[in-house]
Amino acid sequence: MFKVFKPIQYFFGLIYPDICEICNKSLAHGEKIICSNCRIDIPLTHNCNERGNSVEQIFWGRAPIVAAASYFFFTRGSNYRTLLHKLKYASRDDIGITLGLWFGNELATCEIFSDIDYIIPVPLHSKKLKIRGYNQSEKICDGLASALNKPVDSKTVIRSEFTNTQTKKNRMERWHNVSNVFEVKNPAKLKGKHILLVDDVLTTGATLEACCNAILSNVECRISIATLAFAH
Ligand SMILES: [Zn+2]
Repeated sequence: MFKVFKPIQYFFGLIYPDICEICNKSLAHGEKIICSNCRIDIPLTHNCNERGNSVEQIFWGRAPIVAAASYFFFTRGSNYRTLLHKLKYASRDDIGITLGLWFGNELATCEIFSDIDYIIPVPLHSKKLKIRGYNQSEKICDGLASALNKPVDSKTVIRSEFTNTQTKKNRMERWHNVSNVFEVKNPAKLKGKHILLVDDVLTTGATLEACCNAILSNVECRISIATLAFAH
């Protein structure tokens, strides 16, 4: 019986619901993920053109980045948190691609991101990748890539150690948890390049800091950071 139904479940799994993920209203033709009203209300940071913005300040004294920007604020109790939750835990990789594209359209207007060479997702460990089926940050990269017309590289920087979830750890614990887990497979490829390092949510910045410093200790390059959400 299971074998008969499996392809059907698989088929329906590929069809995403055509209701707004925020207000549950039916989506109109051309609308994706959320309706136009909810899209207007996204708490955007609009900080990609602002140097010294609050996202960049997170990394001051911790990682020598070129620039950083986030697409929207990730505030406690906000309905928009659900988008990230579904992207990460409910197989809604389309949310990452679409929001990545919207964010990419904004980044495309920022001079400082115009000479990006590679878009690199913060890597997941292969064990976690197997469980989740995809790297949510890589899906965001795919959206960014189509807006910025730059290649995604998900092979050069890898996560070589498995770490426990960061969510219940404080800033120091998070830093210890990730300080040694990233590895650069092919440093020569990144030499002299400007990399856009991408993650889904910026909270303490420990993961991005560790990833940046792992890359910079292996190869001379410039790194900027883009995250879909900023928990401020
Ligand atoms: Zn809506």
